[in-house]
Amino acid sequence: MLVSAKEMLQKAKAGKYAVGQFNINNLEWTKAILNTAQSCNSPVILGVSEGAAKYMTGYGTVVGMVNGMMKSLNITVPVALHLDHGEYEGALGCIEAGFSSVMFDGSHYPIDENIEKTKEVIRRAKEKGVSVEAEVGAIGGEEDGVIGGGEKADPKECERIASLGIDMLAAGIGNIHGPYPANWPGLDFDVLAEVEKVSGGIPLVLHGGTGIPEDMIKKAISLGVSKINVNTECQIVFADATRKYIEAGSDKKGKGYDPRKLLKPGYEAIMAAVKEKMELFGSIGKA
Ligand SMILES: [Zn+2]
Repeated sequence: MLVSAKEMLQKAKAGKYAVGQFNINNLEWTKAILNTAQSCNSPVILGVSEGAAKYMTGYGTVVGMVNGMMKSLNITVPVALHLDHGEYEGALGCIEAGFSSVMFDGSHYPIDENIEKTKEVIRRAKEKGVSVEAEVGAIGGEEDGVIGGGEKADPKECERIASLGIDMLAAGIGNIHGPYPANWPGLDFDVLAEVEKVSGGIPLVLHGGTGIPEDMIKKAISLGVSKINVNTECQIVFADATRKYIEAGSDKKGKGYDPRKLLKPGYEAIMAAVKEKMELFGSIGKA
């Protein structure tokens, strides 16, 4: 059964580790992440962007697939199904459809409007025991066509949003979506420490987890980050493994064109990448 992200993240914060959010795109992604979480005895958050949900034909399809798969795979570790960077309508739609967690990303609104909309999402979410993530200070890079400027969060705005009753807060601290450029200056730990001080102890979220050096990840966790989003990395390793299979001509041997064989190397590559992140985040054995 799906659970809200609230309790698993509070445990992570108290235990000084982080739970990974791994975004899903289809059945292979979902199966790889759920199986890895179970074998690592780790809590996990399945992230779904609005674009990915649309690709999978709708929120209801995603909920049906994940619930069905958890049952048939006998998944017993805590799993949250979480809308990633939701718009207002999307967040309300996911709460209705059976997601156990939503992010309302109002960071592109003026702060007062972000607060009003976040409040309403919280009200609707609480009725169903769904956890809520809010964002202050856009995350850099591009996600589903939303381009963030990479600005850093204003701690005063963080304090206002955190006090509304959200369960987790994403604050821009110089992190970006997608691969990091060679001249990236790194995470701003001064801003992170400020945000932690004013946010009332709620778990903090680090977006753009692909390509942040390990020592920065560990330092971020020590400063209050308890949820780390990983998306690009699984896409890259999946594409690499699939390309190798095709370039080796394996699809031309026997029945190598069978999609269950063709997609297997990518599936296994996602499992390995997810396990590596869970080790880094310290969530293994914490289910
Ligand atoms: Zn993000």
